Amino acid sequence: MRIGVCVKQVPAGSARMDGETGVLIRSSAEGVINPYDLFALEAALRAASALQITPGRSAGDGAAEEILALTMGPPSAERTLREALALGASSALLLTDSAFSGADVAATSRTLAGALQKYGVPDLLFCGQQTTDGDTAQLPFALAARLGIPAIGWVKEIEYFREDGYSVLQELSPGTVRVRGRYPALFAIGREAVQPRAATLPRRLAAQKMPITIWGLADLPDPDPRRYGLSGSPTRVRKLYTPIPAIKTPPLRVDAAGAASLIHQALAE
Ligand code: FAD
Repeated sequence: MRIGVCVKQVPAGSARMDGETGVLIRSSAEGVINPYDLFALEAALRAASALQITPGRSAGDGAAEEILALTMGPPSAERTLREALALGASSALLLTDSAFSGADVAATSRTLAGALQKYGVPDLLFCGQQTTDGDTAQLPFALAARLGIPAIGWVKEIEYFREDGYSVLQELSPGTVRVRGRYPALFAIGREAVQPRAATLPRRLAAQKMPITIWGLADLPDPDPRRYGLSGSPTRVRKLYTPIPAIKTPPLRVDAAGAASLIHQALAE
């Protein structure tokens, strides 16, 4: 079987936005792996061990078993893939091209889906629940829809991954749902589901030498530049600003009894 993990490079601190296009200037801050993706990667590694996946062994459909880390991002996102390789991914695919820049969720999911359709859609695909920059938490579902596979979001517990299918608990508000099914499937992993591991030094050193496949627009099945990046994005980030609280209420200094009577009065009103 084959496993895929979508990882994203996000700015370590606050990056600047292009005032004109509303696009993040990713080079304006150091890039790190999106913290939520460490949980996705850990879940993928545990699934690989539960399914006894041996990278390189034939997966039966002519492809080799693998734990593929893939990302769409600037060339510097190679560092994010090296991090994923150091943690245990066995192969890596970097989708990078100026045509992909400024993509919204629709264009990003089209890019990732196109690449996976060419590369081979994994049996299990893992995503983090959200990113710390765009933070839409929509990409996993858009990607699954384009691949025509089920997406299980907000996974809070993994009961099992077996050859004949999976069982996970999904956090709903309110309540929890047990979701069972067969592969292929995409899982957006919450932070409760697993505890990410640290990379060992030997793995880190080996990861520096592991090959990374790099694809651009021309490598995608549909290389029409109008469908990717800013031109393929139906949405625009118009403005980003820190909201100023509308009403500046002075802080009240009261004791517990005073607080209780204020609350009582407010509720009565
Ligand atoms: P999320 O959906 O929050 O991420 C969930 C998971 O999807 C990640 O954990 C990761 O596993 C996977 N993933 C996400 N991006 C990638 C990637 N590039 N490569 C591999 N895996 C990935 N786009 C919109 O459509 N609407 C918006 O409102 C919007 N607002 C934005 C605001 C800001 C400040 C920024 C910087 C970007 C915004 N974008 C928006 C663009 C959006 O960030 C990108 O399209 C992004 O690639 C997907 O959205 P996300 O970061 O919100 O991912």
